[in-house]
Amino acid sequence: MTSILQTLSCADNYDPESLHVDRARELILDLLSPVAGHEQVFVRQALDRVLAGDVISPIDVPSHDNSAMDGWALRCGDLAATGETRLKNIGTAFAGRAFDGAMNAGEAVRIMTGAVLPPEADCVVVQEVARVEGDAVIIPPGQRSGQNLRRAGEDLQAGRAAITAGKKLRPAEIGIIASLGVAELAVRRRVRVALFSTGDELCSIGTPLAPGAVYDSNRYTLWGMLTRLGCDVIDMGVIRDEPAALEAAFREAAACADAIITSGGVSVGEADFIKQLMTRLGEVAFWKIAMKPGRPMAFGRIQPDGADRPGAWLFGLPGNPVAVMVTFYQFVRPAILKLAGVDPVPPFPDFPARCVEAMKKGRGRTEFQRGILFRENAEWCVRPTGAQGSGVLRSMSEADCFIVLEAGRDNVSAGDTVRVQLMNGLV
Ligand code: AMP
Ligand code: MG
Repeated sequence: MTSILQTLSCADNYDPESLHVDRARELILDLLSPVAGHEQVFVRQALDRVLAGDVISPIDVPSHDNSAMDGWALRCGDLAATGETRLKNIGTAFAGRAFDGAMNAGEAVRIMTGAVLPPEADCVVVQEVARVEGDAVIIPPGQRSGQNLRRAGEDLQAGRAAITAGKKLRPAEIGIIASLGVAELAVRRRVRVALFSTGDELCSIGTPLAPGAVYDSNRYTLWGMLTRLGCDVIDMGVIRDEPAALEAAFREAAACADAIITSGGVSVGEADFIKQLMTRLGEVAFWKIAMKPGRPMAFGRIQPDGADRPGAWLFGLPGNPVAVMVTFYQFVRPAILKLAGVDPVPPFPDFPARCVEAMKKGRGRTEFQRGILFRENAEWCVRPTGAQGSGVLRSMSEADCFIVLEAGRDNVSAGDTVRVQLMNGLV
């Protein structure tokens, strides 16, 4: 097996001392592949799961030519080129109850939306333009063959893939699967993620706060984001900055999870033994990503029992609560989607917006400010959410987007166009 570090060091633009955000994301996605294993579930349980194999349509949808409107089924060839045509009304076709007679020249069938088209008819004229006179219907000129029809197989054809493997199943796909009459399907198994926080200053919720301590919030935001992404989360609690405890935690996590997420312990000046430990238990690259917040990050694999044992991917996130969330959105989210088998992994939705406040910005790294979008004069505008410190979690709570200030950019003046990434609903 090729070493991860070897692969990374051979990659173009690989500088672990100053890695561009997009490059880091690409490197991670290139190394990961979907976890193996799937399970059979009923259609409702498949919501938000990832389809394991193509769903092949057993039928044409619709299964018969039918009317798209309430109106009159007829043969266009019976109509006069100019002026009205009088046709004989010979019966009605309802949705689910076809007209069972034959339709001869000069005749029309009253037809409802979704009803089977009589085989002799080739168009439907909407009821609003026709006029009923006794047992006849008067049709104006200007009708076209094929109008107001839904052809058999127009949506989906029997034998073809209706939905392809790798699709994350949303309500639209759940409906399509039901429209085929399929009751059960195979979805990929959930990604198992173990997480723990590191730091001697961390205090668990529900206990009194000791002087100088902070409550451990990262484990809760991470749990929330991972749960939203459909992962099985294994919460391992707070681990002290102490080698034996950390080693035991890494070993336990690697034995049961596909990925391990830690927070804290990767910044410069933090106990170097964490780095030594991670490196001893696997192959880990320490990245200084050219971004703010979230500069230090570790990525690699923890394989305490040797490189030929499965082990788990490691994402060693910084400790600051906002940095945790920003690095999660930028790197962990796409990685989890890749592991989950989502194909293709969708890019972050982004678009330009007018920034209504000035912002300070240093050159050389990408900054992710937290912003609030609003509409003004038919234009998307954005304003930052007040204090932007990497410990101010409220800035994430108030935000619905990231304002992305590219590495090469400096200060932003009020009225400048900026790029925003929509984060609402993504995790
Ligand atoms: P570190 O990256 O470990 O140096 O932590 C940076 C900052 O984030 C420090 O102020 C920590 O107290 C804070 N921090 C680290 N871990 C957590 C956590 N799990 N919950 C809340 N704050 C944290
Ligand atoms: Mg720490």
